[in-house]
Formats: sequence, structure tokens, C-alpha cells
Amino acid sequence: MKKLGNKMLKEKEGERQKVDSDVVDTTITCDCCNELPTIQPVTTRKEGEENKIEDEEHGHSNNQKKRQLLSDKLLIIIGLALTIPIVLLESLLPHSPLTGFITLALATPAQILLGRPFYYRFFQAVKHKKRFTTDTLVVLSTSVAYLYSLFTLLFTNSHVLFFEASSSVLTIFTIGEYLERRVLNTTTESLKNLIALKPKTAIVMRNGREELVDSDDIAVDDIVIAKPGEKIAADGVIVIGESSIDESMITGESVPANKKIGDKVIGGTINKNGYLQFKATNVGNHTVLANIIEMVKRARMSKAPIQRIADRSVQYFIPIVLSIAIASSLYWILVGHQAITFAVTVFATILVVSCPCALGIATPMVISLGIDRAAREGVFIKGGQYLEKLSSIDTIVFDKTGTLTNGKPQVTNVIPNGGYNEFELLQLASSAEIKSEHPIAKAIVNKAKERSIPTLDVSEFNSISGYGVVASRLEKRIFVGSPKRNDSNNGTTIPQNLQSKTTELESQGKTVVAIFVEDKLAGLIAVADTLRENAKSMIDEIKRMEETKYNIILMSGDNERTARAIAKELGINNVLAEILPATKAQKIKGLQHQGRKVAMIGDGINDAPALTQADIGIAMGSGTDIAMSAGNVILIKSDLNHVVSVLKIGEYSIKKIKQNLAMSFAYNAITISIAAGLLYGFTHSLILTPTLAALGWIVSDSAVFGNSLLVRKFYSKN
Ligand code: AMP
Repeated sequence: MKKLGNKMLKEKEGERQKVDSDVVDTTITCDCCNELPTIQPVTTRKEGEENKIEDEEHGHSNNQKKRQLLSDKLLIIIGLALTIPIVLLESLLPHSPLTGFITLALATPAQILLGRPFYYRFFQAVKHKKRFTTDTLVVLSTSVAYLYSLFTLLFTNSHVLFFEASSSVLTIFTIGEYLERRVLNTTTESLKNLIALKPKTAIVMRNGREELVDSDDIAVDDIVIAKPGEKIAADGVIVIGESSIDESMITGESVPANKKIGDKVIGGTINKNGYLQFKATNVGNHTVLANIIEMVKRARMSKAPIQRIADRSVQYFIPIVLSIAIASSLYWILVGHQAITFAVTVFATILVVSCPCALGIATPMVISLGIDRAAREGVFIKGGQYLEKLSSIDTIVFDKTGTLTNGKPQVTNVIPNGGYNEFELLQLASSAEIKSEHPIAKAIVNKAKERSIPTLDVSEFNSISGYGVVASRLEKRIFVGSPKRNDSNNGTTIPQNLQSKTTELESQGKTVVAIFVEDKLAGLIAVADTLRENAKSMIDEIKRMEETKYNIILMSGDNERTARAIAKELGINNVLAEILPATKAQKIKGLQHQGRKVAMIGDGINDAPALTQADIGIAMGSGTDIAMSAGNVILIKSDLNHVVSVLKIGEYSIKKIKQNLAMSFAYNAITISIAAGLLYGFTHSLILTPTLAALGWIVSDSAVFGNSLLVRKFYSKN
């Protein structure tokens, strides 16, 4: 898991710049919410201060959010207290001379108090050269209604006043904003759960005494104590004691890990039974847990391209609405010969109905909920853009070793040749492989250990990526690796009988390696890896999704026969075998050239370029640092079923965004037409007023929000 921490630290540098621009962008373009552009690009901060400042920002915004909700509630009460009497007076005593002045007295504080945030944001938007925002519509419609009524009351004898419209629109929009904010504030479940993992205090050895400190005050190299049942307060290495540690919250491993002196511990995990002292290695914002939290926060703030389209379209949408409002009002005065009051109602109503809430807030809400939904299962999607890309994937390439298989092969057959016996063959092979990190090497070395075979001294060890290893023993060259690579074994071929044995073993899904001493074949060793739990069920499930929309490919450095045997076991038809590590990314590129949108799922160092090349790189959490920094999606718990979850969440989220956009477009098209007076010819009465329009806005908003909230519930029912 240290890997994950390191990975995220490294990754931060690379991803930071990109995500930061998204952060700034978010605050500027989120029209419907109250967040003003307060977050500065992190790149302008001093190195090292970043995490602290960001945490402060998050802490600050949490308090800010609470205060905001409270002041919203207060405003709603004031709004209702002022608006209800206005509505009653205007409907019960419309012709009383007093009504006008009383309603003015009530509508004015409503306009000032409730209108204040809208006016503030409106002027801020003008100042920041944002041409139009949703507030433009609220400010224009209520100001027109209020000022027109004021003018009518003071300078004419007319009793047609719109104070009821201006104050009810403001009250309803304030209620709407309150509801929106409440919904947005509840989308941080996975973050809350993660933050809750962090212990508040810790016991540290200082000056030979136990001292209770705030867990944020633990310093690197501090000796921290973890008693049975307590949480581990930071990342570190055990110096005293032994215990089993529940790491399921971070690694997904359900069986507690037994740890002893020298083993690593992860902050946030639980010490089950033993007394431990560990030396802190990563503290504060640098722990694995802090980095995971950081990653989720950043992802939530990022944007999907579909959202940028939505943001940009507001810029076109509002001038169009304004033009329609002006044109309709002029039409009714000049062509329809209606009174100015009629035209004012039409104008204000059109502006009120067209508040593009789904564009401004429902889309980021879906993205945030989608990322949150995935995070709750232990899948980290690094940004909204990847959530969207997930929905367009049509080809999924799986790396074999370590991804579909456990990556821990075991020796199954030892076949000596040319006068060697099993003992000698394993001794030669394990001696040559001892320095290699390759899973096959580990399998051979383990087998030798199991049989208590001592290793021999070898020199000039060399690993040939994708081929095998070479080493020298008593001036003789030993090669352990792929039997096919003639260039590595001086052109010697495998005798016929062993060739058919090799074919047989490979057809069983085993990997056969040849051991050559100079150009003499000393024998063959076969290893077999086990399939990961859920590998088969995951492939079956992907095939079931959307009538096999996906083209599934298994990619491996192994020979064709072994790779095909494994593919067959899993029900995968397409195999890319004998792919050298360096060419994995090229293969992905080739698929992209064929017009495919490729997701690559891998774990090894070899996979990093391919993960980067793919449209979506999905890295296994148990994989290497490099693979995880190259991945756009990380399966923290390395559960293959999560591949299915993430594909489904991506698809579902984008479906919801599209539905929201379609719903609000349809709503706007219908209500703007009605507000413009399209039906007036038939009904001869205005069937929409600003108040009704604002109520309609709440209804359509609730539909959009309700639809978006389904993302949170998603998957449990699938
Ligand atoms: P890879 O690309 O790492 O999956 O390796 C592809 C093939 O090269 C393996 O299937 C083996 O046949 C061979 N190979 C690579 N490294 C080793 C090694 N250390 N020991 C034995 N065979 C190896």
C-alpha cells in the first residue's frame, strides 16, 4: 500500500496542473450555486504549503456551507412572511388604494434581502466579464416586475402591480437554491467515510514517556504506539511487537494481515490484537490515506467535457432567451395591441421560466455523485472527464499476468534434459533467477527454497525484458526464459519430444521456460498461474452488458498457446499474445487507429505506457506505483468485479446527464413558448405568470435533481 501512497505523491505533480485549471474553471462557471470564485490556482502557491492551504479551504468551505444553509433558511422564512401577505392582499383587495402601499412596504425588503445574493452574484459576474449567468435572469425578471410596479403605483392610477411576482419569484428561487445546496452537501459520503478513518489522537514516545498528541502532530521518525483495537495513526514501520492488522478499509483484503518487526503499517487501519510500536514514515498530508482523500477531493472538483459544453451553452442560451423576451413583449404591444402590463408580465415570465438549472448544477451533481458512488466501492476515478470517457468505451484490453491472474505462478512441472536431474535443473534456474522480480522467477526461486535447494554463485546477471534472464556460472552462460527465443540461446532448438511436451503444457495454460547452459538444453520448467477470483464472472458480466457492446481482448507477453488457453477458460475470444512490453502501447494505439475507444486494465510496470495510451487506463490497486499513476481509474481493492461497476457507473451517469439536459430543454421550450403567449390566441388569458413560472421551475428542478440522485442509489439494484 505504500505503493499507492508513493504513486499518488508522484501523480500529484503530473496531474496537478491539469486538475487545477479545472478547479478554477468550476468556480467561475457554476452559475446556479452561490460559490464565488475563491479558489486560486494551486500553481501560484508555494511548494509545500499546498496541502495545508487546501485543507484550510475545505474546512473553511464546510463552515461556509453550514452558514450558507442557515442564512438560506432565515431568508426563506423572511421571504414567506413578506410574500404571503402580498399575495393575499393583491388577490383579496386588488383595488384598495392601501393595498399598493402595503405591498410596496412588504415587497421592498423582500427585493433587498432576498434579492441581495442574486444581485451580488450578478454584479460579480459582470465584474469578472462573465456575460450571462442564471442570476441575470432572476435579477432582470424581478427588477422589471418590482420597478414597473413601483412606477405604476407612484405615477399612474393603475392597480396592476407585480410586487407579488417579484417577491414570490425571489422566495421560490431562494427555496430552490437551498434545496440544491442541501443536495450537493450530501454528496460527500465517500469522503466522510475516508476522513472518519483517520484517528484524531495518537500515543507517541517522547523523552522515554508515552504522550498523547493530536495525530496531525506526529512527526516523521516518531515512535508511535498502537494498542490492540486501536487505529494506526500514521504510515510507518514496526519496530516493536507483532499483531494482525485489519487493512480492509484501504486494501480491500478481508483477511487481517499478520505483521512483525520491519513490516509496514498504514495509517487508518486497525491493530487487532498485539501491542505495536512503529516508526512513522509518512505523516500528515503525506500518508496513504491523506493521499486517497486528496485524490477524491480533486476528482470531485474536476469537470467532464459534457459539463463544459453545458457551461458554454448558457452563454448562448441567455441572450436567446432575452431576445425572445424582448421580441415577445414588443410583439404584444405593437402587433397584439396589448397593454404594457401584459408585455411586462410576458417579459418577466419568460426570464423566470428559463433558468437553466440543469445546465448549471445538475450536471456537476451527477459527476460528483458518480465519482462518489464509485469511491464508495473502492474505485477511484481521477476526474469527471474519465467518468464521461468510460461511457464511450467499446474495447476492453486486459493484461493477463497480475490482472486476470493472481500474478503468483507456481512451478507445476520440472522436466530435466541432457543428463541433468530435477535438483540440478532447479538449482541452476533459481540461481540465475534469484535477482529477477518477474513472477516466473519468483515461482522458480520459491520452488527451489521449498525443496531446500541451495543457490549457486552466479555473475553477470542480466534480465531481458519479455524474454528471460541470463547469468554466468563458472564461465558458462545460463539462460532461463522463453523457449522460442533462439537469439537468446544461440539458435539451439528444443528436441522434438520436449517440443510436444511444451505444446501440451502450454495448451493447459501453463507457461514453459527453457533452461540453457551455453547451447545445451538443461530442461524445461512449467509454471501455472491461478485466475483471480471473479475473473470469469467479471468477463461474463461484461458480456451481458448492453448485448456485448464491448470487444474484450486479452493481451499477454506469453506465447500464443498459453494465452489462448487462459482466454478460453475465461471465455475471451480475442488474444494478443507474445506482445513485448515495449509494444503493448503500440497495440493499443493500433486499436485506436481502427476507431476503437479502448480501456486498458493492467497492473505491471510494463503496462504503464499502455495504460497511458488507452482512452481509459484502469490500474489495479495492488499493482505497481507506476501503473497506478498512469491509470485514470484505480481499483483500490483490486476486485475485478469493480471493472463492471465502473463501466456501469460511467454509462449510467452520462445517461442521467443527457436525460437531465433533455428534460430541461423540453421544459424550457414548452414553458418559454407558453410564457411568450403562444397559447394566448386560444385561451385569451395569460396562463403563466412569473409566480406560476417560478413554481414550475421548482417542479422541473426537482425532477432533474431526483433524476440525478438516482446515481447515488445506482448499482445496488443491479
Ligand atoms: P512478460 O512480458 O514479462 O510476460 O514475459 C514474456 C515471456 O518472457 C514469459 O512468458 C516468459 O516466457 C519469458 N520471461 C520473461 N521474463 C522471464 C524470467 N525472469 N524468467 C523466465 N522467463 C521469463
